Amino acid sequence: MNFAYDALGGRVVLRVGALAMVGDEVERLGCRRAFLIVDQAATAYGDAIAALLGNRLVARWGEAIQHVPVELAERALAAANTANPDVLVCVGGGSSTGLAKILALDLKLPVIAVPTTYAGSEMTPIYGSTGERHKRVGRSADVLPKVVVYDPALTVSLPAAVTGPSAFNAIAHCVEALWMPQANPITSTLAIEGVRAIASALPTVMAAPDDLDARAALQYGACLAGMALGQTGTGLHHKVCHVLGGTFNLVHADTHSVILPHALALNAPAIAPLLDRLSAALGVRADDAAGGVWDLAKASGIPTSLAQLGLQAGDLDEAAHRCAAEITDNPIPVDLATFQRLLDAAFRGERPAST
Ligand code: NAD
Repeated sequence: MNFAYDALGGRVVLRVGALAMVGDEVERLGCRRAFLIVDQAATAYGDAIAALLGNRLVARWGEAIQHVPVELAERALAAANTANPDVLVCVGGGSSTGLAKILALDLKLPVIAVPTTYAGSEMTPIYGSTGERHKRVGRSADVLPKVVVYDPALTVSLPAAVTGPSAFNAIAHCVEALWMPQANPITSTLAIEGVRAIASALPTVMAAPDDLDARAALQYGACLAGMALGQTGTGLHHKVCHVLGGTFNLVHADTHSVILPHALALNAPAIAPLLDRLSAALGVRADDAAGGVWDLAKASGIPTSLAQLGLQAGDLDEAAHRCAAEITDNPIPVDLATFQRLLDAAFRGERPAST
């Protein structure tokens, strides 16, 4: 065995009712002036945090948008500069965490994240903002939240149409972490345990959205997925999803459950020594991990075909060409024919064959 692993700092709290601890966590950091970022869909939780903070709240920001448009980040930064905070608190999905990270990068302030989806951004030092001007993507220890507060009760309000795709985004982070060049025995163990936790809980949550034990298991899995992602990054699977979302206007989050079984079928030979553990985490035979991911999507009532997402058969050729042009680094060599096969199978929603 031979590897290098950079442990990332940060405190993680997970329990039902943890929201009530946010004021104490601000205190624990020795901070007195909080700037609170609240996702539009998490207003009630923002109100609760504002009440806990009392006069330690210096300003509240109520807008978060996917991929942090630069224009939004600039307005939020101006508001934060006026308020002169000493800590950033964010509650919501990856979009609100993403905005807090961009502010943390400029202001060099600690972040306390209260995630309400399964994106996992709160566990990574990766930041990004999008736009014509000053587009920024990168890694910095400055943006990694100092404290992450997971309260399963905050995720009960997530609609099924967000819960399923968001949990599958986390599974995709785990599975891709296994075949990235930066993978090592520690990240792979985090990733496989993340798959186990999410696979065991997702069908339950989809059937009973207010099951707090199952919701807690999804947050635990999302936490592990974020840790693995933060160390390894993303590869072929996420790039195919970006091509489909960016070019054909499919909802990016919905593409994960459709593409992942086929991406895993393609890359399974590259992670052969891990397949028995991954398959066990999914509860299937050692040669059936890709099928197990497909089964999980089916059992959870999440899309399994590109046709279901609205892609037209006539778009497949352009999609394959774009993937072949943009995706060249993968542990299994890929070419146009690879993406034609992968996208055809994903279009039809086929269950991948056992390997
Ligand atoms: P999101 O934050 O946009 O949330 C998805 C939807 O859920 C939104 O409509 C939001 O309003 C709603 N929502 C959030 N919490 C809710 C709640 N409690 N009840 C009801 N609705 C709620 O999307 P996301 O998938 O969480 O995050 C995606 C963003 O995160 C993307 O910009 C992605 O690039 C980024 N991301 C970054 C990293 C990283 O490491 N930097 C990792 C993963 C994702």
